[in-house]
Parts: sequence; C-alpha cells; structure tokens
Amino acid sequence: MSDGNGQGHVVIVGGGFAGVGCARALAKHDAVRVTLIDRNNYHQFQPLLYQVATSQLAPSDIAYSLRKLFRDRPNVDVKLAEIAAVDPATRTVTAADGQTWTSDAVVLAAGSRPNFFRTPGAESDSFPLYTLDQATRLRSRILTLFEDADRSPELVDRGALNFVVVGAGATGVEVAGALADLISDTMALEYRDLAVSAARIHLVDLGHVLLGPFSEGSHDYAAKVLQRKGVRTHLGVAVTAVRPGEVELADGTTIPTHCVIWGGGIQAAELAGATGLVQGRGGRLMVLPDLSVDGAPGVHAAGDVANIPDRHGEPLPQLGSVALQSGTWVADNVLADFAGKPRKAFHYHDKGIMAMIGRGAAVAEVGPHHHELHGHIAHTAWLGVHAGLMTGVRNRVDAFLAWGWDAFSSGRGPQVLDRSDAARIDWEHEQAPESAVA
Ligand SMILES: Cc1cc2nc3c(=O)[nH]c(=O)nc-3n(C[C@H](O)[C@H](O)[C@H](O)COP(=O)(O)OP(=O)(O)OC[C@H]3O[C@@H](n4cnc5c(N)ncnc54)[C@H](O)[C@@H]3O)c2cc1C
Repeated sequence: MSDGNGQGHVVIVGGGFAGVGCARALAKHDAVRVTLIDRNNYHQFQPLLYQVATSQLAPSDIAYSLRKLFRDRPNVDVKLAEIAAVDPATRTVTAADGQTWTSDAVVLAAGSRPNFFRTPGAESDSFPLYTLDQATRLRSRILTLFEDADRSPELVDRGALNFVVVGAGATGVEVAGALADLISDTMALEYRDLAVSAARIHLVDLGHVLLGPFSEGSHDYAAKVLQRKGVRTHLGVAVTAVRPGEVELADGTTIPTHCVIWGGGIQAAELAGATGLVQGRGGRLMVLPDLSVDGAPGVHAAGDVANIPDRHGEPLPQLGSVALQSGTWVADNVLADFAGKPRKAFHYHDKGIMAMIGRGAAVAEVGPHHHELHGHIAHTAWLGVHAGLMTGVRNRVDAFLAWGWDAFSSGRGPQVLDRSDAARIDWEHEQAPESAVA
C-alpha cells in the first residue's frame, strides 16, 4: 500500500500519549508518511494539569510543541485542525473548516472529555480539569477568589473561600491535596487579612471510598492525609446541581461556593460520535484485541477514545500508560497491514498506578501485582514516573526545578492571574444561598 512517493500514508487524529506514541513509532520507517492532526499545536501532559491549576507548575512545563517533537522526522507532518467527521469507508477525516485528509490507515486517538452525567449546571458552572486551557482558567478562578476575599472579607460568608471538588478518584484527590497546600502556603504570608481556617475544601463522591481503583490501604492513607490537611469529605452522596454561588448535594445539603472543580468522570472525545462506528461504555469506540475497528479496514483506535479489552476481555482503564502503549502497538499493526502480515493482539504491560496527595504524600501501587507504597517513597516513585513520561527534556528540567523548590520551601510557582475575564465573579448577581455547611 503506498502513495505516489512509495509511502503508505497514515493519518493520526490526536497528539496525546496515544497519538504521539503511534507517530513516534511510525516515524522510524521511511516507507510510511504520517499526518498528525490536533486541535492544539502542543502535546499536553494531563496528569499534571492539577499542578498548573494550583500554581505549582507553569503551563509551559506540561505542554510541548508537536512540531518541535517531530522536527527531525521528515516523514511526520503536523497539522493544526479540529476534526469534525471521519468516514471510515474511505479513511477520510474532515476538519471543521472542510479540509480533508484521505489515507491508507486512520488512527483515532482523540482522548476523553469530561462526563457531567447530566448534572444540572455542572457543564456551565463548574471547572473541569482536562485541558491546559481549563487548568489556567481554574488557576485564575482560585486566585480571583483569594484576591476578592482579601479585599472584601465579608465575601467569605458567601462562600468565597469554599472549594468543592467533585469526584474522589485520582484527579479529585490530587487537586484537593494540592489546593490545601496552596491555601496553607499562601494565606498567612501573602493574604494577611485572610485566615487559613476560613478556607474550606469539600471533596464529594457518590462512592464510599477515596481513590476507588486503589487498594484498601491506599483508601485509608488518602483519607488520613486529606483529613490532616483539613479537607472535608462527603462520600456516598451525589452532587445534584451546580449553580452560580452554590452546589447542591443529594442529601439536601447546599454548600455556598464559587469554585466547583469537576473531576467526576470522563467519556470519549466528541469525535467518537462523529465516526458512525460502534461505541461502548462512556461512548468509547469498540476495538478488536488488535486495536483495529471491526468492519472498518484500515481504521484503528488507541488510548482513552477506545474501549480496549485486556486479555480477559475486560476494558482497560483510561491511563497515560495504556494510551502510550496502545498507540505504539497500533503503529506495529499498521506496519503489519502494509506488509501484508497478520496483526497482533495488544498486551498491556501494567506498571501500576499512583496518585499524589499534596506535598510529600503519595500512594503508589507498583508493578503488575500492585505492590503498595505510601508516603515519601511513593512520592519519589511518582516523581520518577512522571518525569520519565514527560515529553521534552526542557519540560523535565523545569518541572524538577519547580518540584524541588516546592518540596523545600512554601514559596509557590507561578501564581499568575492571567485569565481574569474568564475567572471573574459577578458578586452582585450570584445568589447568596440560604443554607450552608459549616
Ligand atoms: C486531570 C487528569 C489527571 C490524570 N492523571 C493520570 C495519572 O496520574 N497517571 C496516568 O497514567 N494517567 C492519568 N490521567 C489519564 C491520562 O492523562 C489519559 O489516559 C491520557 O492522557 C490519554 O491519552 P490519549 O492520547 O488517549 O488522549 P489525550 O491525552 O487526551 O489526547 C487526545 C488529543 O486529541 C486531541 N483532539 C481531541 N479531539 C480532537 C479533534 N476533534 N480534532 C483534533 N484534535 C482532537 C486533543 O487536543 C488531545 O491533544 C489523567 C487524566 C486527567 C484528565
């Protein structure tokens, strides 16, 4: 299979872990030409978005130019475009502005988006944390609240320093821990008219434990650390509505707040629905064990957008390591297709799972048997794994400098209120709730 230049053409939609993994593996083969398309001109490192939102890292520490990543790879062409439709029959992808790319193989790697589970107001009035843009918006909202409460302390009674985190999975626990550190680091020294004790962080989840996919020991450790940091947990209760100025829980409680952080779940990127292909749980594309799409020759899916079966047929979790490995695996199967050889079933090499719960505290369950580590040793494992996954050497150095600075001092990273318009609060019109949680 080849174009006029004797090369097979592969179009990859999405420059996340899966798309970049796939493009990097294909780039080594001169007989292949790759077009890598993303709506952003950078690869973003989602696991560290919460550190940007809580002023630990700068946005540039966790984003890397896709063009720079492939500047030494003449057979990889990067295009900035929002893909709106995919025609699996002709392996053609169409951008929102109408431009099309037709290929010998299409790799769908468009990732996830938040799932608000039809909770009224959640989409319009909460702050999800899935993109760099959302992380900087959230950072500005948090800092706006600090500034407004510092100038007008009476706003504290209207929930100006109440932060509600929805979802007690890794995203929610990590952001709650980091937010508690941000508050204790900055309030006393930088916002002298505010008391640390005036701030409240509420972590809400329908489930009954923190860090659901982890072991019982990790659930307990996370609960203890967050309690020590002053985070209030509301488990076994759903958020029923988010409104400007308050959040409502299923047990009838309302919490006055102007910052609801949504880490309540994910679903497949919108693009999955624009392919006409079969979707499973969370709207994810159903793939065969070799990551190809049944009945759509030359179409493959990898990473979060796909429902990837493990060797027992159970779906693998939406993790960076699954995305990276599946993207690389797709590259091998595309090459096998081009060479007329059989594709191989994907085998995931499980290196474990980990979550950071604020400064110096982490849980890590390492290796396929998930050997449990807590505290500083888990923190060190976390640093190593995340630095290793980061794409550019410069980003790694910058992030390590920021982490070192953060570990040994309470001076924070970039507390920049740069999205003031997006983060502004209309205190005049946002209602003052009648009931409140102490
Ligand atoms: C806050 C957070 C914390 C996390 N923490 C961890 C962790 O600690 N460890 C871990 O292993 N995993 C973690 N994950 C999960 C991990 O980040 C994801 O599993 C991984 O990023 C998925 O990679 P992907 O390539 O499938 O998708 P993504 O990384 O989401 O990349 C998808 C790409 O597709 C692009 N795109 C989407 N739609 C279109 C379109 N229509 N047109 C053009 N481009 C498009 C996007 O811009 C994006 O660049 C976390 C996720 C989040 C959100």
